[in-house]
This record gives sequence, C-alpha cells and structure tokens, in this order.
Amino acid sequence: MNQKRLQKIFPGPGTVNTIALYGNYAPETAEQVKKRVLELHARFSFFEAESDIFRINEQAGIKPVTVHPDTLFVLFHALAYGAETRGAFDITTGAANRLWRDAIRCAKMPSDSALAEGCGRNGLSDLVLDETESTAFLRRKGMQIDLGGIAKGYAADQALQILKKNKVRHALLNFGETVIALGREQKIGIQHPYQKNGQSIAEVSVKNKAVVTSGTYERGFFSQGRRYHHILNPRTGCPADSGLLSVTLVGQSAMELDALATGLCVLGRNAGLPLLEKRGIEAVFIDNEGEIRITPGLQGKFLLRRN
Ligand code: ADP
Ligand code: MG
Repeated sequence: MNQKRLQKIFPGPGTVNTIALYGNYAPETAEQVKKRVLELHARFSFFEAESDIFRINEQAGIKPVTVHPDTLFVLFHALAYGAETRGAFDITTGAANRLWRDAIRCAKMPSDSALAEGCGRNGLSDLVLDETESTAFLRRKGMQIDLGGIAKGYAADQALQILKKNKVRHALLNFGETVIALGREQKIGIQHPYQKNGQSIAEVSVKNKAVVTSGTYERGFFSQGRRYHHILNPRTGCPADSGLLSVTLVGQSAMELDALATGLCVLGRNAGLPLLEKRGIEAVFIDNEGEIRITPGLQGKFLLRRN
C-alpha cells in the first residue's frame, strides 16, 4: 500500500483524463481505471471502424448489430433520458453532429443542401434495441448514433466502481468537465465560459458526488452576429438556442448528469428544473447574459471566484 498522492493522466476524446488517488491505495488501481476507460472509449467511438457505434451506424437501415453489454446498457439509458427530456437529449443526431463538427472546424456555416441532408435524420423511435439478442439497429439508412453527450459519464461511473472495488477511500476523477469526488469534501471548479480552459468562474464543494458541466461556449464560431456551437436541438438539427451558456449538475450518477446536462442545454432552465427536482439533482446555470443561478441545495456549497 502507498501513502502518497498518485496522479495519472491520459488522453480521452477531446480532453485529458486525470485520476488522482490519495491516502492508501494499491498502485495498480489507476492503471486498471485507465485500461477500462480506454476500452470504453474504443467501444463507443464514433470514428473507429471496429467500435460498436461505428458498426451500428454502418449497418443503419440494413441489419441489427451485436454489441457489448456496456453499449447496450448505455443505449438503453440514453433512450430513457431521451424520453425524459422529451427528445432534447437525442443520441441519434449523429449525422447533424458530424455536419456541425465540420462547420465548427472551418468556422463556416454549412450549405443549405448539407443542412437539408444532415438535419432531420434523427429519431429515437428508430433505434431498436433487443436485450435478449444483445443487438442494436437503426431503422433508417443514413441515421447515426453519437454517444458524445453520455459516454464520458458512463466511463466515470465505471472508473468509480473500480476505485471502490480496490477500496480507494479518497480520489478525484476528472474526465474533462465530468468529475467524481470520492471521500473527503473537495472543491470543484466550474469553467468560466469566456476565459481559457481551466479558469473557473465559481466552485462547488462536494463529497461523494459527481459534477458534470455541458457548455454551449465550448466549441463553436460566430457568423453574422450569432454563435453556432456543438450542442444541437434535435428538433431543428441546428445548435441549441435556449439562452444557456452552461449547465453544471451535481448528483450521484455521472452518466445521468452527463445526459441531462446536454439535454438541459437544449431545454433551457425553466423546462429543465422539474426534471432535476424529481431526481434530486442540484444545478448551476450560467445564461447568455452571464447571470449565474443555483438550485437551493447548493446554498452554502457554492462560491463565486473573483477574477
Ligand atoms: P462535452 O463535454 O464533450 O462537450 P457534452 O456532454 O456537452 O460533451 O455533449 C456534447 C456532445 O454530445 C456533442 O459533441 C455531440 O457529440 C453530442 N450531442 C450534441 N447535441 C446533442 C443532443 N441534443 N443530444 C445528445 N447528444 C448530443
Ligand atoms: Mg453530456
């Protein structure tokens, strides 16, 4: 057993994953976490030809694909969050995501024909899951699943399971705005929407909780005075316009928070609040005017940073 602090970093999709362990821990624990998380990234990747998601997308409109239980689990839950957010969280927006990803990369609006082709292809009812056969099927050709809004959360929950199994008592997992604090109370920074990565606007103190942020400020570009970003309104296939810059959720399951934080960026604060109350989730909302609002459960646990 080791008494020191151990920190391991490794690349995740579009981010850096950090595992910090404190106190007594078995040194191989961090390596086990890393292995599991990389395995999940490979399984859920939109781009890698061997991944479950790639194969489902490739066979859209053709035939069901056998997938790993991890994938089936996440897909089932993603459908449930989709229903709960009345379609605001929709993993079948892959085609539109791809279109806007390219648009953001070039900082240029997609053409009308590309928009017509990429948008409107989604539909949660066209994703068919079969638990007994362990298969997933997209009914329409050209439809695509993208787990970018939920995969990190599931990976963080799985990482926590490994820490618990290895009897780690005090740790911090940070998978890029998807954070789990285990053990002692820890202060988690909330990214400043207008400052460089790593600069916090505020912090929340949590203990044995997950903290997940989704932000429309993250990846995007301006065109004719409007900002276009990477969280899409599935109804239009275009970047969400709910008046929120970011949503930070505090609760138990990182997967649940990840999906709902993305969904709430689309739904907006008023429509989202009842959903959070029902599930006992606390939140920090930053709106387009830079106004910050917190839910009552965060009173005394939230601190604004002076920048
Ligand atoms: P990140 O923290 O990586 O920015 P988020 O959890 O905020 O991820 O989710 C954004 C990602 O989710 C997008 O990059 C895209 O892959 C996918 N996505 C975009 N819009 C939606 C949506 N309405 N529902 C589900 N997934 C979405
Ligand atoms: Mg998310």
